[in-house]
Amino acid sequence: MKSIFSNTKDAFSLKTDFELLRGKFLFNIIQNKFLVKLGTSLTNFSLKFNLPVTSIIKFFVFNHFCGGISEQDCDPTIKKMFDKNVSSVLDFSTEAFKTEDEFDSCYKKKLSIIEFIKNRNEIPFAVFKPTCLGNIHLFEKVTSGISLNPIENAEWNRVVKRFQGVCQKAYDNNVKILIDAEETLVQKAIDDLAVKMMLKYNKDKTIVYNTIQMYRWDRLDYMKKLLKNNTGITFGFKLVRGAYMEKERELAAIMKIKSPICKDKSATDLNFNKGLDFVFNNINKISLVCGSHNEASVLKIMSMMSKNGVLKNDDKIWFGQLYGMSDNITFNLAKEGFNVFKILPFGPVKNLMPYLIRRAEENSSVQGQTGRELQLILNEIKRRKSVNV
Ligand SMILES: Cc1cc2nc3c(=O)[nH]c(=O)nc-3n(C[C@H](O)[C@H](O)[C@H](O)COP(=O)(O)OP(=O)(O)OC[C@H]3O[C@@H](n4cnc5c(N)ncnc54)[C@H](O)[C@@H]3O)c2cc1C
Repeated sequence: MKSIFSNTKDAFSLKTDFELLRGKFLFNIIQNKFLVKLGTSLTNFSLKFNLPVTSIIKFFVFNHFCGGISEQDCDPTIKKMFDKNVSSVLDFSTEAFKTEDEFDSCYKKKLSIIEFIKNRNEIPFAVFKPTCLGNIHLFEKVTSGISLNPIENAEWNRVVKRFQGVCQKAYDNNVKILIDAEETLVQKAIDDLAVKMMLKYNKDKTIVYNTIQMYRWDRLDYMKKLLKNNTGITFGFKLVRGAYMEKERELAAIMKIKSPICKDKSATDLNFNKGLDFVFNNINKISLVCGSHNEASVLKIMSMMSKNGVLKNDDKIWFGQLYGMSDNITFNLAKEGFNVFKILPFGPVKNLMPYLIRRAEENSSVQGQTGRELQLILNEIKRRKSVNV
């Protein structure tokens, strides 16, 4: 039986012929690990020495995966997607921040984005990466339980204030907020703060969503314990498989500890499915965002919604994909009436380089995804040619 996700006409209805050809070119390159490594080194070198490569990157890569440099730049894309029933989540690039001034400016930026998106149905969530609000080494120390000296303590208090400030602003403006998950080395500090925020802001409705990475074999137990030990709120969980697998494995090997990641892809898939079962067994206590490009996972949720009598457009369940990937899932879900958004990264090209490099590396290291994207683009190019002859 043909899956609803093989409909490339609707999937790529917003893409011009040129944009499809650019996608074909891009995913052909990304498929090749050697070219990705070479491209990454050349780009880093060029940016370091201020060689004029920004416009080339912007034209070929940035415009495929990102919405623009400012939130206003993103507006035409947001509107076009919303016409197709696809919402947007604006993700300001923040990965390179290191100083207190940068953390403060990032904090202000997150507040201003919430101000920008409030009362806009087409942008139902805000999002932030916790280590954009404070020094990653502090998150590491807090995660491992090492006590902080007085200076670090003051610094950590500022992190907590910023974290809480973003959630408070979201709550005050009725904007749902997604907290990204990061490496295991910093995750416990993030989880503990996220749970505090849920206990404070999720009493009447689900405002705060923490991310659960199901490639970690300990996460199902983590969710079970959370629900057992806390009552009176709705938990917001963004279920993902996880984006830092190779880094996690390398680190575990260096530290000679058991890797936090499931032993192989099928173990991750099984764990992800168990996570979904857990969510639906507790659907009166959990709101779910599924961040995935995996068709089987999305189909499983669709079928569980139907079995549990959850309406397609119930605000309890959202699907999300990254802009520039898996349009076949996003636009076909939207056509069927499900809640779905694209993460739309934006910001200066230089700041977005770590994000773009991660997309390229993730795509070249994860078997299947790039082939899938490329095949869909090729199918649509072929389909358009056949209707034009
Ligand atoms: C909306 C959205 C939000 C996201 N937010 C976050 C976030 O906050 N934090 C974060 O870490 N990631 C995040 N991600 C990325 C996500 O974790 C995955 O890396 C990405 O979506 C690929 O997984 P998949 O479910 O789409 O598809 P698939 O292609 O089915 O799965 C690929 C994933 O499976 C896992 N995997 C692959 N090979 C193996 C192996 N050999 N052993 C064990 N596991 C394996 C890895 O997690 C890999 O990324 C987000 C993704 C989306 C779409």
